[in-house]
Amino acid sequence: PCHQISIDGYAACGKSTLARELADELNFIYIDSGAMYRGVTLYFLREGVSFDTEPPDALVQSIDIRFEYVPGAADKLYLNGEDVSTKLRTSQVNENVSKVAALPNVRRRLVALQQDYGHTHNVVMDGRDIGTVVFPGAVLKIFLTANLETRVRRRMNDIKSSNQYLNVDEIRTNLLTRDHIDSTRADSPLKQSEDSVVIDNTNLTRKEQLVMVRSLAAL
Ligand code: C5P
Repeated sequence: PCHQISIDGYAACGKSTLARELADELNFIYIDSGAMYRGVTLYFLREGVSFDTEPPDALVQSIDIRFEYVPGAADKLYLNGEDVSTKLRTSQVNENVSKVAALPNVRRRLVALQQDYGHTHNVVMDGRDIGTVVFPGAVLKIFLTANLETRVRRRMNDIKSSNQYLNVDEIRTNLLTRDHIDSTRADSPLKQSEDSVVIDNTNLTRKEQLVMVRSLAAL
C-alpha cells in the first residue's frame, strides 16, 4: 500500500516548497494539486468555456491533465498533451482559478485523478482539501499558515523571478479573494482537519520547517 502526506493551507504559504523538499527527502513523488486546477482554468479561458455554472460533464471528463514530477527540476503540467507549465501563474489564471475550483464536476474529476496518483505512488500532495477529502487516510497531515504580509512578500519574490508585471496591492487582493472563495465554497471548503498538525511558518526558515516536518513523518 502507498503512503500519502498532505499539505494544505492558504494561498502562498510555501506549501509547494515544503512539499517538494519533503518528497525529495523521503523519495516520494510530489503532486501540486493547485497546478491541476490552474490547468483546467487555462483550458476554459482559452476555449471560451463559461464557468459561471458547471460546464457539461462530458467536456470536463474529456480534459486530459497530467502532472509530472522531476526531482531537482521544474515540475510539468500537461494539458491535452501540451506542456503548459509556464502558463499557469498569470494574473488571468490567478483571478479565475478559485471560481473554476468551486465547480463540483471539476472537483470530482481532479480529486479522482489525484487519488490515482496517491494510490499508485508514495506522494506528498499540496492543496486545500488533500487531508480532508482526497486522502483522509494520509499518514501525516500538515496545515500550513503564515501571516498575510509574509505571504504577499513571498509571492512577490516568486513573480519577480519569473519576470512578470507585479503590483503588491493586486497580489494581496488576489490572495485574500482566493482564500475567501476557497474557504467558503460549499463543496470541500479549505479547513483544518482535526487530525492535522498546524505549522505557522512566518518565522521559520525553509530548513527549519523541513526539519520539523521530517521529524513528524516517521517513515
Ligand atoms: O495551490 P495554488 O495556490 O496554486 O492553487 C490555486 C487555486 O486552486 C486555489 O486558490 C484553489 O482555488 C484551487 N485549489 C483547490 N483545491 C486544491 C488545490 C487548489 O481548490 N486541492
